[in-house]
Amino acid sequence: MFDVSINVAWMKRSATLAINEKVNALKEKGETVYHLGFGESPFPVHPRFQKALCENADKKSYLPTQGILSLRKQIASFFEIMFHLSCTPEQIIVTPGSKMALFDTLMALDGSLMLPSPAWVSYQHQARLVQKETHYLYTSFEDRYLVTPTLIEETVEKYILRKKEQKILLLNYPSNPTGQTYSKSQLQALADAVYEHNLVVLSDEIYALITYNGNTHHSIAEFCPDRTIIFSGLSKDRSLGGFRLGLAILPKNETIINSILAFGSETWSCTAAPIQYMAIEAYKTDDELLQFIRDCTKIHETVTNYVAHRLLKAGIRCHEPQGAFYLFPDWNSYREELAKKGVKTSEDLAFHLLNNWNVATLPGSEFGRSTKDLTLRIATVDYDGSFALKKYQENKDLVEKDPEQFVNGIAPKVVNACNQLEEFTSGLL
Ligand code: PMP
Ligand code: GLU
Repeated sequence: MFDVSINVAWMKRSATLAINEKVNALKEKGETVYHLGFGESPFPVHPRFQKALCENADKKSYLPTQGILSLRKQIASFFEIMFHLSCTPEQIIVTPGSKMALFDTLMALDGSLMLPSPAWVSYQHQARLVQKETHYLYTSFEDRYLVTPTLIEETVEKYILRKKEQKILLLNYPSNPTGQTYSKSQLQALADAVYEHNLVVLSDEIYALITYNGNTHHSIAEFCPDRTIIFSGLSKDRSLGGFRLGLAILPKNETIINSILAFGSETWSCTAAPIQYMAIEAYKTDDELLQFIRDCTKIHETVTNYVAHRLLKAGIRCHEPQGAFYLFPDWNSYREELAKKGVKTSEDLAFHLLNNWNVATLPGSEFGRSTKDLTLRIATVDYDGSFALKKYQENKDLVEKDPEQFVNGIAPKVVNACNQLEEFTSGLL
């Protein structure tokens, strides 16, 4: 018998990874499941990344905890070219996934956490693991679930947070789970609030390049560079989640950089050597690689827009997406009808859809909403990415001319999931 420490006894398997394992187990049993539960970009490993990985299979030594200099130089150049953000290699820390970078930073920084609701599942649990108090910023559907300076002000007052004390504000844009992002002027206004309330921003920009309508992503670091830590990595726009390479870009502050590195050196030591060498290729900015990212983004945009429009047509409240590959639809207007079926919480709703309609989703409660808020997080990536990319590259015009036909051709399971959600919702009336 083992006694588990009270520091972790409260934990369960992360909801995103757990639903994925559950769906895979159901599929192995031969069941049909439309998988809107897990957000993994489905596109193939670019041949150049595969080649770079093979060429570096002999790299077996432990590397510096911060990451190899040649990679950090390449990353600095990538951020300069893609986002006009200047940083030196000394400001960059390469980690085994950005999840690790976020955890280490939360561990290293003093102050309580101001966390938007809804927000990605892991932030709240990581904060609890490092015994950080969390104050939720309850955003609204009407504000497109975006944080506003007023909401920051109100939350600071509500929890009587002292002005002089450092507080941590977490922002994630484009957002998992809402698919929404901030404009330049909204970020400028938030940056003013950062200085006003003595905040440090953890800016999770891992979906930055999956910004729709050809819009350019802006970072809050443009407006408060001395207060912002950016998180990013290869998991989303280059579809390399399982390669586990993330990063943090910090202000020029040796104390925080050294604290994170000290922690990293005692825990994960360094990011896998072949992956770091491969990543030098993945952070290049030549036309071929940028076109690959743009093509994948266009497909995410087309499929996610399709799902949003189908949901809206079915009478489900939902915002038009602006980036990433998620939607956060809302069944609150069907509260009474759902209660008759015994569905009273977002967990009930997700459970009901999986058991009766074969559609896997995650409940809004996993993303920090109250259980009574009948919201779900939907990921729009249940299709064969290699096939989709091939079809898109063969006939790019089709996506503009007839996006519905394109989605019908490449993502039949997503289309079926929409049919199921439509039928379920219309049956409520
Ligand atoms: N932030 C957000 C918002 C995410 O959706 C994810 C992936 N689920 C991560 C961070 C972590 O990504 P990784 O650890 O693969 O870099
Ligand atoms: N980004 C994914 C999601 O939110 C899964 C990976 C993870 O949570 O680490 O579904």
